[in-house]
Amino acid sequence: MKKLVIANWKTNPKTAREAVLLAHAVEKSVRHVSRKVEVVLVPPFPFLSLITYHSSLKLGAQDVFWERGGAYTGEVSASQLKSLGVSYVIVGHSERRSPLTGGGETSEMVRKKMTAVLKMGMRAVLCVGEEERKKETAFPPLVREELHEGLRGVNKSLLRNLIVVYEPPWAISSHKHAKPDTAQNVFEMSILIRRELVHLIGKKRAMRTPILYGGSVDEKNAVLFVREGRVDGLLVGGASLHPKNFIGIVRSIAEI
Ligand code: PEP
Repeated sequence: MKKLVIANWKTNPKTAREAVLLAHAVEKSVRHVSRKVEVVLVPPFPFLSLITYHSSLKLGAQDVFWERGGAYTGEVSASQLKSLGVSYVIVGHSERRSPLTGGGETSEMVRKKMTAVLKMGMRAVLCVGEEERKKETAFPPLVREELHEGLRGVNKSLLRNLIVVYEPPWAISSHKHAKPDTAQNVFEMSILIRRELVHLIGKKRAMRTPILYGGSVDEKNAVLFVREGRVDGLLVGGASLHPKNFIGIVRSIAEI
């Protein structure tokens, strides 16, 4: 399976010009490893059409609305995203699930978004993760619930476009966790998530579903997470805003 590295720019950079420069810098330096690593840029909504025009890298969106259109001020539909060339959509990011940093997104909203993305033929990047760091190897109930709820009722034939990211909120932007015992935790969680997927969507689909890790990934620890955590790729936040750091991540993954 080709490794996947997704750059979640969140509400950055500040200007359209900076966004274009960032996309150019990344594209120029990762082009030669494109057979080994798929790089996806996920800018904020206002920059999507600019980046699709200025870069040939795969394009992702940070969120989506489930209705096809209508009177929903501020929302963006799956077909609108697709028409801009978006092929990946992050769904259920912990910052969207949280009432403080997002809309306090519920499981039902996550499920509707998953369905909208998958029906439109785009890849749904479903984020799951427990709130508090766990001590034992047991499967955290919240992760199980987020998987079950995110996939409940979704037509099985659409799930070939599913990607799951294990991204516990405690690891996001918290570099103190970027060490070997976290990679061991990622390894255990990726096994538990895949086992749950086998149960939920069947063995064949589960084995083909990429499982990524996200949380304080940078050029120094990316290889550790992919090699020791044995994941199929990474979701990168803060480090994706720094071309040198992000390019370092992609190149090091290509060498594994
Ligand atoms: C994220 O929130 O998706 C993320 C990966 O953040 P960071 O890399 O900054 O921890």
